[in-house]
Amino acid sequence: QLSKRLARVGDFVPDKSRLADIGSDHAYLPVALVLQNKLDFAVAGEVVEGPYEAARKQVRKNGLEEQIVVRLADGLSAIEQSDAINAVTICGMGGTLIRDILEAGWNNQRLQGNERLILQPNIGEKNLRNWLTDHGYTIIEEDILEENTKIYEIIVALRQTNRVAYSEKECLFGPILLERRPAAFNKKWQSELEQRERIVAQLTRAQNTQEERINQIEKEIAQIKEVLSNES
Ligand code: SAM
Repeated sequence: QLSKRLARVGDFVPDKSRLADIGSDHAYLPVALVLQNKLDFAVAGEVVEGPYEAARKQVRKNGLEEQIVVRLADGLSAIEQSDAINAVTICGMGGTLIRDILEAGWNNQRLQGNERLILQPNIGEKNLRNWLTDHGYTIIEEDILEENTKIYEIIVALRQTNRVAYSEKECLFGPILLERRPAAFNKKWQSELEQRERIVAQLTRAQNTQEERINQIEKEIAQIKEVLSNES
């Protein structure tokens, strides 16, 4: 039984995909999707020995060694050309780490550019969307959901010929979430607003000289207020 978060990620994986799940931990996602007959083949990549062993165990327990290959590797280096991967999931990490994994895979050509990326950053979504827009990706779907008092975002991206360049505001809020404004989106940004206001108050009280940082946070505060006041 997948968590609501991973089940939603799975919904964005097209039928008959050849999936690479990077940072797979227990390989829960590829195992569940193969059991649902959604995948032809999967690679579960892990860089840490413990989770790698856990993934191998989970695959063996379900008798799926034919369909799921578990590899101990850093990021997208888990992918081999002969895998013919066409979908990549990277979930449950910070957006900056996901970005760094994509950047490394881009540079060593493990990422071909024709895979569908299904990304679930826990924080730092803006850095990730900046990377996607800089590398010619279009965000084709986004979602936001709450589970166990935490709010998670999911970003689905694909490189298309008619590329879209996203604005700073779209990178912060998500171009699709900004249009749709689901309830969890408003809840998240209300809390992000309060958090930023607390930080600015602290920095100001401490007569902190990080003027540039304060200016950046204040700019975001204004953007968040604007977005929340347009809530319909
Ligand atoms: N993807 C699962 C999920 O969403 O539930 C597991 C998330 S877990 C919090 C993050 C996993 O990513 C850890 O098992 C960690 O070892 C792995 N990880 C972190 N950096 C990685 C990298 N560069 N390459 C592969 N795996 C990595």
